[in-house]
Amino acid sequence: MKDTLARLSQTYGPSGREEEIRSQLCKELTALEKNLHLKTDALGNLIATRPGGEKRLLLAAHMDEIALLVTHIDDSGFLRFTPVGGHDPRILLGARVVFADGTVGTIGREKLKDKEELKLDKLFIDIGAASKAEAEESCPIGSMAVFAPHFSVQGHRLMGKALDNRASCTVLLEVIRNLPPVDYQIDFVFTVQEEVGLRGARTAAYQLQPDLALVVDVTRTGDTPEAPVMAVKLGKGPAIKVKDRSFISHPRVKDLLEETARLHGIPYQLEILERGGTDAGSIHLTGEGIPTGVISLPTRYIHSPAEIIDYRDLQNSVDLLCSFLQHRDLFSSL
Ligand SMILES: [Zn+2]
Repeated sequence: MKDTLARLSQTYGPSGREEEIRSQLCKELTALEKNLHLKTDALGNLIATRPGGEKRLLLAAHMDEIALLVTHIDDSGFLRFTPVGGHDPRILLGARVVFADGTVGTIGREKLKDKEELKLDKLFIDIGAASKAEAEESCPIGSMAVFAPHFSVQGHRLMGKALDNRASCTVLLEVIRNLPPVDYQIDFVFTVQEEVGLRGARTAAYQLQPDLALVVDVTRTGDTPEAPVMAVKLGKGPAIKVKDRSFISHPRVKDLLEETARLHGIPYQLEILERGGTDAGSIHLTGEGIPTGVISLPTRYIHSPAEIIDYRDLQNSVDLLCSFLQHRDLFSSL
């Protein structure tokens, strides 16, 4: 799983421009040789269907990552940008970014007045261009940069960019690899444009109309110095979501997830995220409403160039999902 995550983390795939990460995921899915039916929908969601019966379950993880979109190039070749997804200027300053064609840039800032707050419009991307024309050639207006790829493993801890949400994409691939046959259909969906408002998930849920949905995404932790209070720690197991800004989990789905974890001795935590949300926010509101649950991977420094997760949380998430998906009363108890 570590190698898969390393490949996915380092692949370019900003929201709305997911072609590269989608084709990498297609490769990974094909290599599993699991007779999945693969489809890409109009928005770019990648849907891998495993037929199995009348009932349908949707298992989703978003594949897009946050980015910077070039809005203006000055005469000296410095690029101004607008954020695609949530960015903190304090984290961007000094970060290295990379464009689709491989052009690398670093983030610089204007001089600030005394006690002036650092804002995104004080920042610019420097790709080392000597002129506007030179910059335009590789990074025209509208092009997108993501954090420069790197990936490292230290003990149980994995560090890289876009673990939000390639870690969850990796979990889905591992579930596909390990899950025995079940008597219902599963649509594994790698969604687009989550970071800009849960957009791909909305059309995916609409077309698939599942009886039950599960989302895998990352969540914050409260275990770093002076962190905002939050009862989620790295390495203490997958977090079963209770609530976030756009979603309150279906009580039966949440309880079933907890029951499953306890029954199989899988460590887990309960998550209440006060800021942010996941694809579940749009999926559960589709049609007449869809019973939905979320499994979250505890992650430090979300939306930074170096997010950290614990490998054991990844493995336990796969175990929890595989056990849950084999639960006898999955649909009858809803
Ligand atoms: Zn995110």
